[in-house]
Amino acid sequence: MEKYLKNEDEMLRGGQVIGEQLQAGDVLVLTGELGAGKTTITKGIALGLGITQMIKSPTYTIVREYTNGRLPLYHMDVYRLGQGEGESFGLEEYFEQDGVVIMEWGNNLRDELPIDYIEVFLNYEGDGRSLRIEGQGANGKRRANELVA
Ligand code: ADP
Ligand code: MG
Repeated sequence: MEKYLKNEDEMLRGGQVIGEQLQAGDVLVLTGELGAGKTTITKGIALGLGITQMIKSPTYTIVREYTNGRLPLYHMDVYRLGQGEGESFGLEEYFEQDGVVIMEWGNNLRDELPIDYIEVFLNYEGDGRSLRIEGQGANGKRRANELVA
């Protein structure tokens, strides 16, 4: 699935539609350059999960938890981390929670990702951004195919 999102509002709305469809155990890896919209789409996803708390970029804290929505959301930004450093903040334990995990720069910890996850690629395109969703692992592929943005 590929989609063009021409401005921030469309990115928020795209995220919201995804958030409405997420299930406990879903892991989303957000891949895209600085400023591609990873935090923005996370704000939309949180809206779709019914979270009313303000979403702040977890760049310095690595992970922030939001628990007042339909499912708990664990929002991570692992920009500053490299291979093997997921352990430093207990990454594996978040995958075992019955919530949704969103990882900005998740590919930095490629070897520590679960078998099944949904990768969301965001790219600069003109004044807006393109969005593409691809599943990894059999279950991740199935979930990615079910998602509409
Ligand atoms: P990232 O987390 O990937 O570094 P951000 O979500 O912080 O990126 O977004 C960076 C900037 O891009 C913000 O100013 C945001 O308003 C803008 N932005 C987000 N989505 C879009 C879009 N679809 N089109 C144009 N600008 C966007
Ligand atoms: Mg960000």
